[in-house]
Amino acid sequence: MSAGQDWTTRTAAELADALAAGEVTSVELTQAHLDRIAAVDGSAIEGVHAFLHVDAEGALAAARASDERRAAGSPATFLDGVPIAVKDVLTTEGMPTTCGSRILEGWVPPYDATVVARLRAAGLPILGKTNMDEFAMGSSTEHSAYGPTRNPWDLERVPGGSGGGSAAAVAAYEAPLALGTDTGGSIRQPGAVTGTVGVKPTYGGVSRYGLVAMANSLDQVGPVTRTVLDAALLHELVGGHDPRDSTSVDQPLPDLVGAARKGATGDLSGLRVGVVTELQGEGYQAGVQARFTESLDLLVAAGAEVVEVSCPQFVHALAAYYVLMPSEASSNLAKFDAMRYGLRVLPEGVPDPSAEEVMRATRDAGFGDEVKRRIILGTYALSSGYYDAYYGQAQKVRTLISRDFEAAFAQVDVLVSPTSPTTAFRLGEKLDDPLAMYLNDLATIPANLAGVPGISVPAGLAEEDGLPVGFQVLAPALADDRLYRVGAALEAALHARWGGPLTPPELPAGLDRREGASA
Ligand code: GLN
Repeated sequence: MSAGQDWTTRTAAELADALAAGEVTSVELTQAHLDRIAAVDGSAIEGVHAFLHVDAEGALAAARASDERRAAGSPATFLDGVPIAVKDVLTTEGMPTTCGSRILEGWVPPYDATVVARLRAAGLPILGKTNMDEFAMGSSTEHSAYGPTRNPWDLERVPGGSGGGSAAAVAAYEAPLALGTDTGGSIRQPGAVTGTVGVKPTYGGVSRYGLVAMANSLDQVGPVTRTVLDAALLHELVGGHDPRDSTSVDQPLPDLVGAARKGATGDLSGLRVGVVTELQGEGYQAGVQARFTESLDLLVAAGAEVVEVSCPQFVHALAAYYVLMPSEASSNLAKFDAMRYGLRVLPEGVPDPSAEEVMRATRDAGFGDEVKRRIILGTYALSSGYYDAYYGQAQKVRTLISRDFEAAFAQVDVLVSPTSPTTAFRLGEKLDDPLAMYLNDLATIPANLAGVPGISVPAGLAEEDGLPVGFQVLAPALADDRLYRVGAALEAALHARWGGPLTPPELPAGLDRREGASA
């Protein structure tokens, strides 16, 4: 293992400590991650393909500035100089933002998303933009117009979605930290199937300004990391009130890092944990269920009281989501009209095309099948005569799901379930079966509908296939600190058992396309 690769296996907190101790520079760290990206990311045909765009120059310039600040004795934050990857649905000034879609190919935003601006102000070099299902629609990253990302645990398998790029980048040591977005599970489910930590914060807890919206009432930005503490550090850095987002919560975040540190001591006495009856059993892979039960035992050993809690309306969450989400998406995607930005396709054989004709040709060429499917679904659900029957009904179900959460949180402090019903499936396995694809989000969607926060923590490998399993913790809105306390306690118990974090197998040689690299 080269010295460079060694730095890439450290956690963000360890890297920040090493920077503070003067053991390494940000330029060295950033270069080590750029080297790793060059060595394993390859293309969509082979390699992890976590990145759609790598900004080596920009990242190294930010790293040099970070080193200068530190030399002058004034680092901006604890994480100053630690590199990060950003999902390609967040706008980045001067860096392409495609949302995994052809329709935004070549678009370079004139502004930074608030979370990106906060990363830059905090001194984190941005390595690049990560791959995703087109407009964040999917659970496998196979709906990216630029080809799929592969799971570092098994390159023939999907890394989950829509944020498979961010999760795979972190799992494959291409980045110590990443940002994702979660509308129905797109941070937590990829986290589960790649053995990484993923957090969907409370709705309104992290700014959505500059997040290209799929479904505004469900979308949240959140951290993707290898440890619970790293997630807390990143969450505190990007979270908190933003006057540019009208849904942003105007109150300070709870002490997330403090909660993670407290949890890591392994003491959960006094904590009441509710196992959601409806989020287990039939449809959940045996190895997923086994790791889940084992994690529950560890929580009990840490002093928590575990009870079963029923949330009867959760069985309708998926159906409600697939009415509400396409409805909002169909309205959001109307702005891609070929007039303002991105792709413009002129219809063939039409000498003097109207704006409508250009729009039609552009959308036909620019949007993929899944996006078209959801625009049609959403437009139908919102059309006059059907609005009450579909959209109105789904909103009522959404209220009932929020009430289930309220009733549950009157009895327990957190709710738990497996994050995803199965481990990573094979590339192509569910691509032609939208319903099978949608079922991956069974356990993650209720949190988005109710706006409550959730975390997925690696819970080990399923016995039957040796692939990562995620353990989900849900907390009441604004109590994100509970996720970190419980997550860190579970992680500490599991790491003690495994002798450290989960480590994917070495990636095969021959992915390195750099000049002089041995193939
Ligand atoms: N997989 C879900 C969907 O396809 C969730 C996506 C997301 O959270 N962005 O809509």
